Amino acid sequence: MLKGAVNEMVSDNYNTAIVKAMSYFLSRQLLIILLAAITSITIFLNRPYRLSTQTKLVNSVIEQASPAKSEFEDSSAVLATYKTTAAFEQYKPKYVAATIDPSNYGDRYSVDVYGNPANNQPIVVLHETTASARSAINTFRTPNYRDSDQVSYHALIALDGTIVYLVPAEKRAFGAGNSAFKSSLGTETVKTNPDLPSSVNNFAYHISLETPLDGRGKSNHQYHSGYTDSQYKSLAWLLALSNIPDERITTHKAVDRSGNRSDPRSFNFDKFFQILHAYRQQA
Ligand SMILES: [Zn+2]
Repeated sequence: MLKGAVNEMVSDNYNTAIVKAMSYFLSRQLLIILLAAITSITIFLNRPYRLSTQTKLVNSVIEQASPAKSEFEDSSAVLATYKTTAAFEQYKPKYVAATIDPSNYGDRYSVDVYGNPANNQPIVVLHETTASARSAINTFRTPNYRDSDQVSYHALIALDGTIVYLVPAEKRAFGAGNSAFKSSLGTETVKTNPDLPSSVNNFAYHISLETPLDGRGKSNHQYHSGYTDSQYKSLAWLLALSNIPDERITTHKAVDRSGNRSDPRSFNFDKFFQILHAYRQQA
């Protein structure tokens, strides 16, 4: 009986050791995933505009490409290039990475279904969750095997400003079916699936804001009290890391062609751009 008790104690200690080792291992894994997510978003968001390899350390973990002399300096093409500010350095958002089901995202295509090159410069498409952040993440964790059911964002910003990285930036998230972006270049849209309408997904980075409590369960076209200051700051912080120009930051409502999407409702672009411009300036 004593032997049994001792064995139990030994086994308890052993189990505790295993639990400790596992949680240490998992926390390391999570950190690695997080670093990978942050690195990939930074690289993607700077993709077409990134003209040099000069880097600087931001928040001790984020390497951000900062543009030097543009090779297009003499061309008429206007390529926006930005640098982050002291205000950016001071804001420290919380961020986490969540794994979602691989059926809900895919690879970005280099050619469309007709064989034409798909080389649009990136855009940012803003959304709102319309439900809680947790319920949105659960939706993305559910396998969806029908192409038309698949849905995801690259990142989500919770009411408290926490940034949740969901899909690596180099992957194609399914945030806006049947959509097109109107720019100075014309109407930009890419057809990558013969059975579905063309969309902006191939060159979009989708970010969703968690809907406030008074906006949940309401019909698509009603307004609500809007987003928190922390959400605006975290969104601006995230995009200050990119070289995506202001005019390529848009909404689901603006790119939608189905007539059913009006998100993000009650989004204050003036307020957002004011913070973004405080966090990044033309280099
Ligand atoms: Zn949306």
